Amino acid sequence: MKIRDILAEGKPTLSFEVFPPKTEDKYESVEKAAFAIAQLKPAFMSVTYGAGGGTSKYTVQIASDIQEKFQVTPLAHLTCVSSTREKVRQVLDELREKKIENVLALRGDIPADGQVEKDYQYASQLIEEIKQMGDFCIGAACYPEGHVESANKTADIQHLKEKVDAGCDFVTTQMFFDNNILYNYLYRVREKGITVPVIAGIMPVTHASQIKRICQMSGTYLPARFKAIVDRFGDNPAAMKQAGIAYATEQIIDLIANGVNGIHVYSMNKPDVAARIQESLSEIIGK
Ligand code: FAD
Repeated sequence: MKIRDILAEGKPTLSFEVFPPKTEDKYESVEKAAFAIAQLKPAFMSVTYGAGGGTSKYTVQIASDIQEKFQVTPLAHLTCVSSTREKVRQVLDELREKKIENVLALRGDIPADGQVEKDYQYASQLIEEIKQMGDFCIGAACYPEGHVESANKTADIQHLKEKVDAGCDFVTTQMFFDNNILYNYLYRVREKGITVPVIAGIMPVTHASQIKRICQMSGTYLPARFKAIVDRFGDNPAAMKQAGIAYATEQIIDLIANGVNGIHVYSMNKPDVAARIQESLSEIIGK
């Protein structure tokens, strides 16, 4: 099923994410986690893509298995900046063959050595390519706090508009820990004429080291309330996990209460975390 049709039903939806292994020896454990998450029957499941394309076969395989074995709609991520046009087309052919209808079109991070391929500079170019390659439902990434490389939020929203104009059907946000940031962003994107559904990306932080990495990578704002949790429970893994899940769940309830229906949980191959969040929302999300 196409994700735009799922979202068009106008009901709250919960989706989860898995990331494929970098090496074959880890495939079995990732597959097990992905299948356990699929058994929760989320609205859809996204499968990330290694920026260099090295894990592409696992992305397609896991996405296909989720669909075939569990009848859960997959969203296959695809990055372009480190890929040739030929490689991108090959992956799209494979997705089509496996009847995977949804693609999240991304540029990918610029590698530390700055070495990229020349065929694509921005995700908008990938979206144009996907449009030509078949009847895919296309998603893209967006950044309520601005993308780290962009000069300011206005420029970033302008580039988001280019992605939507190129043909993307919905956008999923980078994680955020203060819902007011999203509400403000929604106002700004709607004002710029971006009308596609915006899915809120929520990250349950289950251990303290995760948060350091997140802040280094994306400069995400941490509210005092969140910092207090990490400060108080960071040294107690079980308590940190419980508090992190509760924080994410509260964020989701507030979002849905304020009319944000699409919720994507960065569940990071953790079926227990996904299950606990889903269970806490059983009456809110419904079936
Ligand atoms: P773009 O939309 O191309 O934007 C990149 C930067 O260029 C932004 O600063 C933008 O403002 C600017 N820009 C865009 N167009 C122009 C233009 N015409 N002129 C000048 N500047 C421009 N990474 C992975 O490797 N694998 C994944 O599976 C993955 N999944 C993700 C899922 C989500 C929901 C999100 C939010 C991110 C994901 N990422 C993933 C990370 C993503 O690849 C990085 O954030 C990357 O740095 C930017 O990708 P993008 O598609 O947003 O790029």
